[in-house]
Amino acid sequence: MYADELKFPVSDIKGIGQVTAKTLAKAGVFTVADLLRYIPRDYENRKKRVPLSSVPSKKEVNTVIEIVAHDFIGFGRKKTLKVYIKDTTATGVLICFGRNFLKNKLAVGKHFFLYGLFDIKYGEIQSTQFEVEEYSGRPLHFNRILPVYPLSGNLKQGTLRNVIKTILEKYSNVIENQLPEKIIRKYHFPPRSGALKNIHFPDSEESMATSMELMKYEELFYLQLAVARRAIKFKQHTRDIKKVKTSLKEKLLDTLPFSLTPDQINSLEEIKQDMESDTPMYRLLQGDVGSGKTLVAFISSLGVIERGGQSAFMAPTELLARQHAENAVKLLQPLGIRIAFLSGNISGKQRKPLLDALKKGNIDLLIGTHALFTGDVVFKNLEFVIVDEQHKFGVIQRLALLNKGKTPDLLLMTATPIPRTLTMTVFADLDVSTIRTMPEGRKPVITHLSRMENEQKVYEAVRKELQKGHQAYFVYPRIARTGNEASADLKDAETMFVHLQKKIFPEYTLALIHSKVSDTEKISIMNKFNRNSINILVATSVVEVGVDVKNATCMVIEHAERFGLSGLHQLRGRVGRGEVQSYAFLIYSDKLSEIGKERLKVMMKYHDGFSLAEEDLRIRGPGELAGKKQSGFLRLTFADIIEDTRILNSARKDALSILRSDPGFIHISNKMIREIFERCPPFEDRMLSSG
Ligand code: ADP
Ligand code: MG
Repeated sequence: MYADELKFPVSDIKGIGQVTAKTLAKAGVFTVADLLRYIPRDYENRKKRVPLSSVPSKKEVNTVIEIVAHDFIGFGRKKTLKVYIKDTTATGVLICFGRNFLKNKLAVGKHFFLYGLFDIKYGEIQSTQFEVEEYSGRPLHFNRILPVYPLSGNLKQGTLRNVIKTILEKYSNVIENQLPEKIIRKYHFPPRSGALKNIHFPDSEESMATSMELMKYEELFYLQLAVARRAIKFKQHTRDIKKVKTSLKEKLLDTLPFSLTPDQINSLEEIKQDMESDTPMYRLLQGDVGSGKTLVAFISSLGVIERGGQSAFMAPTELLARQHAENAVKLLQPLGIRIAFLSGNISGKQRKPLLDALKKGNIDLLIGTHALFTGDVVFKNLEFVIVDEQHKFGVIQRLALLNKGKTPDLLLMTATPIPRTLTMTVFADLDVSTIRTMPEGRKPVITHLSRMENEQKVYEAVRKELQKGHQAYFVYPRIARTGNEASADLKDAETMFVHLQKKIFPEYTLALIHSKVSDTEKISIMNKFNRNSINILVATSVVEVGVDVKNATCMVIEHAERFGLSGLHQLRGRVGRGEVQSYAFLIYSDKLSEIGKERLKVMMKYHDGFSLAEEDLRIRGPGELAGKKQSGFLRLTFADIIEDTRILNSARKDALSILRSDPGFIHISNKMIREIFERCPPFEDRMLSSG
């Protein structure tokens, strides 16, 4: 049996009740298999004695103590138990905040294992955070390396340790290896059941490390197989070769007041070749916001439409989809292209005739949200599917749209550059076109850094732009005040909207937009902003994607330190979209660290997303950018796509070599690979988040 086949509810396990099951469910753990994948974020080595006398040069104490005496400090509700303790090296005290009940357990004269965070306070070796277990020959939580799990909700370390231990004891002798014998021998990998045990309850740091190595390798091995298989499957659909027609394209280019950039021309050519090939296109078009991707997609759709096919264009939000539709109407309708817009908000009376026309082939280009792939949407002859901001959609959703045509071409677009390691591995099955240079005549946005105290100067600079008739964005990291004291000095969009309107810009019209504002309201606000009847848009990062107002020349981002570089870059991309000089003002809080400041300075130096992504990688280190912590692309349990490049490369080589020599996994030594894909397919829908 494979560990991922243990797909039954955790509550089926003896000793796990409904309450625990509910708490686990809140943390995304439903099945026994999920629990085994719930890996520690850290470990505490409780094998090594650290006596009380090592404080304060060491803060973490791990020792055996005797209870010496009890006392109480404070009065009334604040009355708190204080326990005097000693080990063989020193004496100390435990302050039991909220745990006066420990009085009975910690009886004077008794011995306990103790683990705690200590410091010297009022001349005493003191701890308020500690764990104890009665001293015995076979302790559960001591004399071993203990896992420290990520917690959320009511989840407790003790609960997790107990249930995972129970499961491991129950199943470790039925959990099978998931790699061919040859590979296990090549790398001297331990058995999988032992590896799982050593990841949760390591015997030693070494055995934990080798176990982790196995789990990482295995995960990356199956990732490579899954991706490669997807590519093979996709390319299996062959079709008749059809030439793309170009007279509509020529007509459109004649009407444009500019010429295409070399990168746009290249991308168009690559797309055209794919469209004329006997296997469907599966291509990613990457380029900064405003680099002209959408235009490339529109032009490409013309070639298909002219030969009698239909195109679908899917965007992640209603706002963005509408904007694309409006642009398409302006640009393509004059050429006779029949365009329609579909979203969840289009229903009943409007929807029915639209769907009829689509089915009859009377619509050439359908633009919309994920509503495009609902069941009743039927095309006559769908040949081309465009997906904007592809990482916001899950794989399944994209494939659902593909199923609406026979062998349609797929073009994914993204303004978030994907690190090379990822394009090589996770997206190894995708061809990539890149638009690096921006259209001519764009002036780089002038970027200013400013400390929180100096925001008045920024407001004055913005005022000058407003006086010229230009518009501005003000962006904040959160919608509203939360009442949480820790973040009391963090500005929010709601409060600042009122403040800016009343105190700073009373003579101008402001509007507030964020994710809690309804779609209809958002659209109405954006229309007004577009017409320049709103001067200032106060927002959260919802303006990040796709808003396109050329007259807006100022982007003010307060608490810029709260945004990632790519987020800041996307936000900055909202201005500088026309010919006029634009400005970005990044206001940071006084408490900013040196690294934080360096990150923001990078924004002044670089203006394209590719350099910024590389700089981000350099400053922060790979771990934070990609792999485990990057939810946008891929969720891995064990490996980190960038940190574990060495393992990734071996796994990739091995996987591809097996796939080449035995693509159906028929050979007896590869049997388990076939079984795993049949019985518990890896990366099926965990592959990409659906954001
Ligand atoms: P993206 O989809 O990459 O964000 P768009 O295709 O929406 O970019 O283009 C942004 C703006 O630039 C649009 O107004 C578009 O008409 C214009 N544009 C596109 N290509 C060029 C070009 N080669 N020269 C000048 N302007 C261009
Ligand atoms: Mg775009």
